[in-house]
Amino acid sequence: MPYDVIILGGGFAGMSAALQLARARRPILVVDAGLPRNRFAAASHGFLGQDGAAPAAIMREALRQLSAYPSVDFIHGRATSATGELDRFEVALEGEEVHAARRLVLATGVADTLPDIPGLTERWGQSVMHCPYCHGYEVRDRRIGVLANHPLSSHQALMLPDWGPTTFFTQGMIPLDAELAAKLAARGVGVETTPVVEVLGDHPAIAGVRLADGRTVALEAIFTAPKTAPASPLAEQLGCAFDDGMTGPHVKLEAGQLTTVPGVYSAGDAASPMHHATLASAAGVMAGIGAHQSLIF
Ligand SMILES: Cc1cc2nc3c(=O)[nH]c(=O)nc-3n(C[C@H](O)[C@H](O)[C@H](O)COP(=O)(O)OP(=O)(O)OC[C@H]3O[C@@H](n4cnc5c(N)ncnc54)[C@H](O)[C@@H]3O)c2cc1C
Repeated sequence: MPYDVIILGGGFAGMSAALQLARARRPILVVDAGLPRNRFAAASHGFLGQDGAAPAAIMREALRQLSAYPSVDFIHGRATSATGELDRFEVALEGEEVHAARRLVLATGVADTLPDIPGLTERWGQSVMHCPYCHGYEVRDRRIGVLANHPLSSHQALMLPDWGPTTFFTQGMIPLDAELAAKLAARGVGVETTPVVEVLGDHPAIAGVRLADGRTVALEAIFTAPKTAPASPLAEQLGCAFDDGMTGPHVKLEAGQLTTVPGVYSAGDAASPMHHATLASAAGVMAGIGAHQSLIF
């Protein structure tokens, strides 16, 4: 017997979709590879009721609660392919196990690529961060650097002074016209146009950065917007269309988290230009409800 819904990815989005379908008593399968995007951070912030909780603890509790519903199967593993059409989808897992479902929810998230600068990747989620709402409060009043990696990095630089004294490293990719220079000056942002070539300090802390001309700048935290790409090829395999987001492509959605492929829903970072656990969770709820209602109406 096929499942009513297979949910691919068991992070904030996938588990939220699963919870709605479990409570609707539908037979569902969640497949999760266990590598959520925020696994590099010791604590997750800004999610109501879970502010400061460890990401792994949140997911452990979500799985404990979901497992109480008898119509839910959960597999720790990676889906390698998804094929088929409305009412007749097939998902293959590593190890060649295959499962069938009438609907799919794609919630496999995104993978981050950071600027290729020594010292950056190993501090990701600790003293190198992307989201001031998630981690800015923890570094409040410290010396903050914003490392450009993106045409819109100047937005990040304009925001960060609300958390601490900010230097914007333009990395040769942000044209500093008079309007931008005036906005940065009005926010008290220092600007450094010589590229950063190395992050300094005792890992995971940051003491500063070395510039291409040999100078060093003292810092205690760095914010940068990574480039993002789908963490799995499943949406592409199914023929889903993509939109261009601020940091990379994401699955294009119709109403109710439906993708451009009938019967395939998507939620979370994989299907949004805005990346935040609460938003992923809310979208997962909508995807779960959308998939459930499509089985009825
Ligand atoms: C370092 C860091 C810190 C962050 N901190 C915060 C914070 O404090 N607060 C906040 O609100 N947001 C934070 N975020 C953003 C937040 O992590 C994401 O918005 C959120 O995780 C998105 O949820 P998701 O369910 O879409 O994806 P994820 O949480 O990434 O979950 C996707 C799941 O799908 C699985 N998967 C991928 N491919 C497959 C496959 N082929 N088969 C099976 N499973 C697969 C993955 O292993 C993963 O478990 C942070 C992000 C980063 C990078």
